Amino acid sequence: MDFSNLFKNQPKVVQLLKNSHEKDRFVHTYLFSGTKGSLKMDAALYFASLILCQNGGACGTCEGCKRLNRFVHPRLFMLSPEGETIKKEQIEYLEHEFSLTTEGKRVFIIKDIDKTTLAGANSLLKFLESLDDLSYGVLLTENLYQVLPTIRSRSAVVSFQPIDSSIVKEALLQRGIQEEQALLISKLTNNLSEGLELSKNPIFPQMVELVKKLGLEMETEEPKMYLTFIENGSFLTKLDKTYHGYFLDLFIQFQNDKIKYLYYMKEDIVFQDILDHSTLMLSKEQEIKILDILLTFRQRLKTNVQLDLMYSEMFVKIGKV
Ligand SMILES: [Zn+2]
Repeated sequence: MDFSNLFKNQPKVVQLLKNSHEKDRFVHTYLFSGTKGSLKMDAALYFASLILCQNGGACGTCEGCKRLNRFVHPRLFMLSPEGETIKKEQIEYLEHEFSLTTEGKRVFIIKDIDKTTLAGANSLLKFLESLDDLSYGVLLTENLYQVLPTIRSRSAVVSFQPIDSSIVKEALLQRGIQEEQALLISKLTNNLSEGLELSKNPIFPQMVELVKKLGLEMETEEPKMYLTFIENGSFLTKLDKTYHGYFLDLFIQFQNDKIKYLYYMKEDIVFQDILDHSTLMLSKEQEIKILDILLTFRQRLKTNVQLDLMYSEMFVKIGKV
């Protein structure tokens, strides 16, 4: 496994894990917390390869490391949400699988631990309490404060710094992606492979156009936000929540840009061109209120919302500002 990206971008985390490994002071459960793309999974796999390597730690060449590279190590267990949540049955299955392997150290990695159902969290707590000295686990989250306090307090929290967005932008530019697109994508993700996928996805420019339309519609005398959305945003309805997240993030970016523009803070504005050629009718205060509304609904997207209802409510609110 290639950990060079991790070493370069999360040196503090790597140092912490290396030191604990050398001093034989690993705690049994870690909680890795950081934004999407901050290399938490890379770090969890690095942790696993420190523990499961037969040559003292992440050598990359021993049988243990090789198996880990192919995700077929018999003592590595990985779990992520099925659909929107991690269910009790999944935790119980992990516990069962874990109990079958008794020789040697074992590692489990659970992604998006904040998405565990309440029943799942109870099973998980029991599981964490039952771990023996040879068992290690890493829980990953993008929303630390949505992880139950009982789980948080049972693990050592390691905070990951967000990766600098300019790194993604530069890498996209080097691959021939045009400036505005590269900049926008780098605002949406700090994960290069995700960024590359987005740059090739025909949905992406459609979303940008929709955000521009909506952003300008709200500046008209009688804005018809929801209608504009219905007429131009039908392509969104078939897409999963990840795309709705991108869409709202783009919308937030545009709104942020407007506010910066109104305050003459013109550096780092992505939508510079369209703002230069438009008239903003709303006041700074109104633009800020709309930004707040967008941020609130971006949070709400993470819960179990019905999307069409969410959008109609959001646009009605924006229209009333
Ligand atoms: Zn090894």
